[in-house]
Amino acid sequence: MKRINITVLIIILFNITLLQAYDWPIKESTTQHQINATLGEWREGPPIHFHAGVDINAPCSTKVYTIEGGDTCYKDLVPSPRGINIGHFRYYHMVIRDTIQDSSFIASDSFFAKTDVGNHVHLQEGDVILEHPGNPGNVHWLNPLRNGAITPYADYTNPHIDSIKFYRQGGSAQLNADSLNGKVDIVAVAGDTRTDSTGHSAGHNVSVYRIGYLVKNMQDSIVKPYWEKVKFDSIPSNSYFSLVYAEGSSETHFRYYVTNDVFNPDPGLKNMYWNTRQKIGEPDSINADSIEEAKYPDGEYKVIIKAFDIAYGIKENCKTRTINANIANFRPKVKYTDPYNGQNNVDLNKKVHITFSEDMNKRVDLNSAISISPGVSGNFEWINDNEIEFTPEPAFVESTTYTITLSDQLKDLQNQKLIPYTFSFTTGLNNAYHVYPTTFQWENIDSWDISTNWSQ
Ligand SMILES: [Zn+2]
Repeated sequence: MKRINITVLIIILFNITLLQAYDWPIKESTTQHQINATLGEWREGPPIHFHAGVDINAPCSTKVYTIEGGDTCYKDLVPSPRGINIGHFRYYHMVIRDTIQDSSFIASDSFFAKTDVGNHVHLQEGDVILEHPGNPGNVHWLNPLRNGAITPYADYTNPHIDSIKFYRQGGSAQLNADSLNGKVDIVAVAGDTRTDSTGHSAGHNVSVYRIGYLVKNMQDSIVKPYWEKVKFDSIPSNSYFSLVYAEGSSETHFRYYVTNDVFNPDPGLKNMYWNTRQKIGEPDSINADSIEEAKYPDGEYKVIIKAFDIAYGIKENCKTRTINANIANFRPKVKYTDPYNGQNNVDLNKKVHITFSEDMNKRVDLNSAISISPGVSGNFEWINDNEIEFTPEPAFVESTTYTITLSDQLKDLQNQKLIPYTFSFTTGLNNAYHVYPTTFQWENIDSWDISTNWSQ
C-alpha cells in the first residue's frame, strides 16, 4: 500500500515539472532525425559557452513546427542565430514567419519557421515555461535526448575515447604517466556520433553524455571507485567552462577534465583532482607522509576512462579505455635491518637482512651501491622484491664494528633514489660452537680466495 502511494506521488510530481515525451520539430515528426550537436558541447562564442541544446540536422528552408503550444516570446530577428521561445522551448537558426508575433499564442504542431543557412534546428528545452525575455539566469537547460523527451530516439554507435593525459592539478603542466605524484588532473579526449533511425549519422563529432574514471591496481582490484561528474543532464554555468573543458578543446574536439566536479554546489569543491598521495582513511585533500599510510602506494595502476552516450530504447553505449600509470610519491627508504643499528654481540656467521619501504629496482649493482667497512667478503642478493641479504664468506671477524652504507644508487621501481642509510653493528667473540669447523681454518687462512673451497 505504501509503495503504491509513493508511485502515485512520483507520477504526479513528474507531470507537474516535466513535459511528456514529444515529437521532433521537423517532418516526419514521429521519425528520428540526425543529431549534429548535443548538450554541453564546447562553443567558441564570444563568450565561450556550453552548447545549451541539440542541433537537429535540417537543410536550409526545412519547415519547423512547434513541439508545444504556448505564448511566443523573445522573437529575435537578428541573424545569426535568430530565434524564438515557445512554451518550454527555444528554437534558433530560424527564419520566422511574418505571421508569428512576439507575444502571441501559437498551437502545438504549427508551422512557424524555416531553417536558415545553418542547416539545422537548434532546440533548447527549459525546465520552466520560457517567458520574456528568455528567463536568463533562472532556467535550467535540459537534455532533449533523455529518456522520455524527444521521441523516438535511439543510438547504435559507441562513443570514442582518443587519449588520456595527466596534468598538475589546476595547471597546464603535463605529467609523465610513468611518474605521477601529488594531486593530478586527468584529461580525456572523447566524442561521439549520433545515429538516426537508419543507423546513419551526419558525421559530426558530438559531445559524450557522461564521462568518468576509476583506478585499479595491477591485481585488478578497484582502488578508486568510479567518479563521474561530467554528466550533461543539464549544463553548468558558463563561468565554470574551463573546469569542464581543458585547453586545446574546440567545437569538434572535446578535452574533458574527468577529475573535476563542476556541478557540485560548493564552489570550493568544483575544481577537484585525483590525489595520488592521499592518506588512507582520510579525505582526498589529506596527504600521506609515508608510503605505509598511502592509499595509493608507489607502483603501477590502471586508470580507466568510461564514456557514455544516450541510447534510449536500446542498450547503453559505453566506451572504455585504459592507461597504465606509475605513482611515485615517495623515495624508498630502509625500513628495517637485521642486525639492527647499534646491535652488539652479533654472530660471526650472521646473514644481514635489509628491508626497504617498497619494491626495488633489482638491476642496480649491489656491490657498487652498498659498502661495508671494514671490508669483508661476501655476497649480496635479492631475496624479495624489497629485501636484500648479505652472506659473509666465510664469516665476520670477531669483536669488530661493521658499518654498512646504502647509497642512492639504489632505486625503487619508479627509479626514485633511496634515501641514503647507514647502520653499524659489532660482532661478538669467536665461538667454536657456532662456527665449527670454520673456526679452525679461520685463523689460518691468508687469503679470502680460499673460501671458494669453503662449502665443500
Ligand atoms: Zn546549436
